[in-house]
Amino acid sequence: MTKNLTYLTKQQIIEGLIRLGEKPFRAKQIWNWIYARGVKSFDEMTNISKETREVLSQNFSFEHPQISKDLTSSDGTRKWLIKFSDCREVETVFIPEETRGTLCISSQVGCTLSCKFCHTGTQTWVRNLEFHEIVAQILLTKDLLCDWNKKERKLTNIVFMGMGEPFFNYENVAKAVRILNDSDGLDLSARKITISTSGLVPEILRAADELKTNLAISLHATNDKLRTEIMAINKKYPLAELLSACKIYNRKNPNQKITFEYVMLNGVNDSEIHAQELVNLVRKFNLNVKINLIPFNPWNDCAYDCSKSEQILNFQKKLKNAGLISPIRKTRGDDVLAACGQLKSSSQRS
Ligand code: SF4
Repeated sequence: MTKNLTYLTKQQIIEGLIRLGEKPFRAKQIWNWIYARGVKSFDEMTNISKETREVLSQNFSFEHPQISKDLTSSDGTRKWLIKFSDCREVETVFIPEETRGTLCISSQVGCTLSCKFCHTGTQTWVRNLEFHEIVAQILLTKDLLCDWNKKERKLTNIVFMGMGEPFFNYENVAKAVRILNDSDGLDLSARKITISTSGLVPEILRAADELKTNLAISLHATNDKLRTEIMAINKKYPLAELLSACKIYNRKNPNQKITFEYVMLNGVNDSEIHAQELVNLVRKFNLNVKINLIPFNPWNDCAYDCSKSEQILNFQKKLKNAGLISPIRKTRGDDVLAACGQLKSSSQRS
């Protein structure tokens, strides 16, 4: 039986080649063809001899997940439903902007957490994605955007903000990040990748040493009572522990600002008192952060409304007056349920 090449790490490809009596340096060539040029067959690998290509095709294969839905928002945001070999599905969203293109990728089918404001949180956790299923979301996107072999890349940034809590699938996320970083292939530096977590303290500390990507924290509340109410994970890792871990992340990665994601929920977390509590927390823990204020994107049956524009602006003013960078995120793709917190695939099985 042939082995799917994209299911293998570079080291595993090297070992496979050695077993076949091939030179290990071929792994770098193959890697480059797959991850830098997007080829799907050995015939296209023209710097490898015909005989070697023959041996390779007898032992290795290419297999990619399918796109089961392709939606484009009126603002140009694209959302794909991606189906894996076991028919499980996740959503991936591409957000084009003038100077960059960001892909929001999923790390799990469903999610074990049920953050009250999040549509994905209503979908039962089914399984973790394998590292190659995470990377496949990027390969498929580059195919769909015809983004191979271009000087100006359309896809420039990756955010782990799709379905799932990435740090509950740490090993696969870490392997995927290493594949993205590899300069023989996709060559996306850690600074172009952001991992967003609900606040898993041990993995934040691990990532501070091992991954060094940008870090985003789904904060959404400024005191333990409210945070536990809307994000159950806060019971396990309360704010003091979470923010101490952020402090360590800052210290180990001094050139990066951590992003606090703060969804604006009408009458829940959007008062001046909450804004002041947020300022106090940032000062108390002496954090290097930027705060993204996210207008809430509603979905059917959700219990919340988005804060009024005036309320969001007041909240922002309070943060700005305290010297905190606090942009209001522009909502993208909400007409195709591709906006922040709206992702949910139809593959849920109980
Ligand atoms: S916000 Fe993130 S961690 Fe919370 S339910 Fe949604 S996907 Fe899961």
